[in-house]
Amino acid sequence: MAVRASAMVKPARRTLLHLQVLRSTQLSPHFRRVTVGGGDIDGFTPMGFDQWFRLFLPTGNAAALDRIPAKAHETLGYLRYLAMSDRPLMRNYTVRGHRALSTHGPQIDIDFVVHGPTDDPTRSAAAWAAHCSPGDRLAIIDEGIGFNPERGVDDVLLVADETGLPAMSGILASLPASARGLAVCEVPDAEDRLEVESPRGVEVRYLVRAHDTPVGQQALSAVDGGGVPGHAWVAGEQGLVSGARRALVGRGLSTGQISFCSYWKLPRHQRVG
Ligand SMILES: Cc1cc2nc3c(=O)[nH]c(=O)nc-3n(C[C@H](O)[C@H](O)[C@H](O)COP(=O)(O)OP(=O)(O)OC[C@H]3O[C@@H](n4cnc5c(N)ncnc54)[C@H](O)[C@@H]3O)c2cc1C
Repeated sequence: MAVRASAMVKPARRTLLHLQVLRSTQLSPHFRRVTVGGGDIDGFTPMGFDQWFRLFLPTGNAAALDRIPAKAHETLGYLRYLAMSDRPLMRNYTVRGHRALSTHGPQIDIDFVVHGPTDDPTRSAAAWAAHCSPGDRLAIIDEGIGFNPERGVDDVLLVADETGLPAMSGILASLPASARGLAVCEVPDAEDRLEVESPRGVEVRYLVRAHDTPVGQQALSAVDGGGVPGHAWVAGEQGLVSGARRALVGRGLSTGQISFCSYWKLPRHQRVG
């Protein structure tokens, strides 16, 4: 994962929070929403935009979650986490929604892209999301925001594949009403064009991936053919992210005008960009 770390806005408090699944819903062919809360949820502070977190999921014995080092995001804690024989899966996910005032306490929505084989829930986060049920345990460590334009810049270009749709939706919902620009999201299926709330001046453009077209190719073409924004944000498969970043720098954007994060990786020969 390549994050422009210097530009990230870190949360004031970063600690391991133990939570539970409250419910899960299939939103579309490739998106499953898992709503979590309970446990330590009061310790979570929502920041909006593309706020993300490290997610820990049990690979069998749920009690292993109790032995994750509280500072698993720091070098020493991470090494101790790696040394666990029954270490939980650790993956990165986005706060798609946060409701503070729900009757059952605060809740966080996580939108999982369901990909690959889902028969074994201990094999991947996607498979866990496909199988989880209310009461199942998980843990998170808040990591803050990656989208970080200079103050006052509200002319944006947002580009993502499906894994970046939750973050793009969070950014669109957090931008000021005066924001303008373009948000391009490439999704695998027409039914994955989930409804998003956005400022009136930002056009949301979904591109449905054509059969046999490499992931990110259509989103990358939209970057190549677009104008020059005040700030760009790109997230998704590594080839899309590096290709879009190169194209934007080529069009004169400084590196400080681009927030980018590679969310996942295809084998090199399958990548665009
Ligand atoms: C900051 C950040 C925020 C993120 N937010 C989200 C989010 O909100 N929702 C979300 O769905 N993802 C999100 N991702 C991406 C997610 O972390 C990765 O897709 C992750 O690899 C999924 O873990 P897994 O255990 O399901 O698959 P893994 O075990 O990591 O991967 C198994 C195989 O599947 C491939 N793979 C991984 N993801 C995909 C995919 N989406 N489509 C096709 N093949 C894939 C891998 O290349 C690998 O070959 C985010 C990533 C980052 C860095």
